[in-house]
Amino acid sequence: MSLVVMKFGGTSVEDPAAIGRTAAIVAGRVAQGKKPVVVVSAMAKVTDQLLRAAAAAAAGDRTGALAISSRLRSRHRDTACVLVKNPADSVALQTLIDQKFDSLDEILRGLSAILELTPRISDLIVSFGERISSRMVAAAFRERSIDAAHLDARDIIVTDSQFQRAAPLDAIIEKRALEHLQPHITAGRVPVLGGFIASNEAGVTTTLGRGGSDFTGALLGSALSADAIEIWTDVDGIMTADPRVCPDALRVKVISFEEAAELAYFGAKVLHPATILPAVKKNIPVYVLNSRNAACEGTRITSLAPPCGSPFKSIAVKRKLSIIDVVASRMLMTTRLHERHLHHLRQSQMPCRYGLHQRSLCLAFRRFQR
Ligand code: ADP
Ligand code: ASP
Ligand code: MG
Repeated sequence: MSLVVMKFGGTSVEDPAAIGRTAAIVAGRVAQGKKPVVVVSAMAKVTDQLLRAAAAAAAGDRTGALAISSRLRSRHRDTACVLVKNPADSVALQTLIDQKFDSLDEILRGLSAILELTPRISDLIVSFGERISSRMVAAAFRERSIDAAHLDARDIIVTDSQFQRAAPLDAIIEKRALEHLQPHITAGRVPVLGGFIASNEAGVTTTLGRGGSDFTGALLGSALSADAIEIWTDVDGIMTADPRVCPDALRVKVISFEEAAELAYFGAKVLHPATILPAVKKNIPVYVLNSRNAACEGTRITSLAPPCGSPFKSIAVKRKLSIIDVVASRMLMTTRLHERHLHHLRQSQMPCRYGLHQRSLCLAFRRFQR
């Protein structure tokens, strides 16, 4: 029976209707005889709000931080209330949501006293988004007769200690996935986990960087040698351009791992740049699909894509980017000039492109900030 890792992004779990659609899609896979493992993001915009709460607390605005948390608590409680009707499950879920927000509030209060937001605390704060959404989605699945088992992704996705963009430790993840997930899969249950969140070897919460739930999906797909990885989002697949920028963009039906990785790296937000790597390792096809239009066949990312008639398959957009070409009209001392500029650019960590023609340097500033 084929195993499929299905990752649902923030818009696919943004409200009760979206979670209902997600449940129907997963139930559809089960009905096809597939074994899904489900990874979910935080509800849309929740990670941004949590980061805002953290920043407010660290700036001493305790009231502002707690107000954001209170709005998030209400949003989650209201969603859970609509999703889960069974009285016992509903009470259990509301209690759990309250417990999570009580601990978040405690952290925010502490932060507003300490006034220092470290990457480690930031990861702990944002982790609440996926920790709560995954619980809600698992409960909503059970309410809809999907035999779901919630698992804490931090017990499986183990990383180094680079908070906010931690690197996965593949061998440990593989071992933990087999230990924690496989028994549920074998028993016919649907494991549900939060994406993006992880922990280091000491058990301290880390995250895989913004948009990292795609990466969680791919890491689990690779660890379990899945037959497919599905990335469910709010567009029909990888398009010829970001449909928010170019509304008449067309769907790309098939794309190679290499092309998709390049697009993701250069800013096509539809995929986290690291998503492709674990899939390539095991040659697992990745599908990008629309949870609002599940009938659309989406984009298939595979090792070999057929040749394309157009010279461009898709165009990525990166905003707020400065490209700097350095030009000097005189040859004298150009090497030192070159080194000085490069040193400066490295310090500023500004993305840069520089042209070096023989021994002269090009200087041109082009700003694409819109
Ligand atoms: P999710 O929350 O499901 O992970 P994201 O917001 O991270 O979704 O990614 C989906 C978004 O990626 C789309 O709404 C779209 O605006 C953007 N995007 C950027 N480039 C592309 C592209 N080439 N094809 C499709 N979507 C793109
Ligand atoms: N919730 C995280 C973010 O907004 C991870 C994700 O959605 O993939 O960045
Ligand atoms: Mg995303």
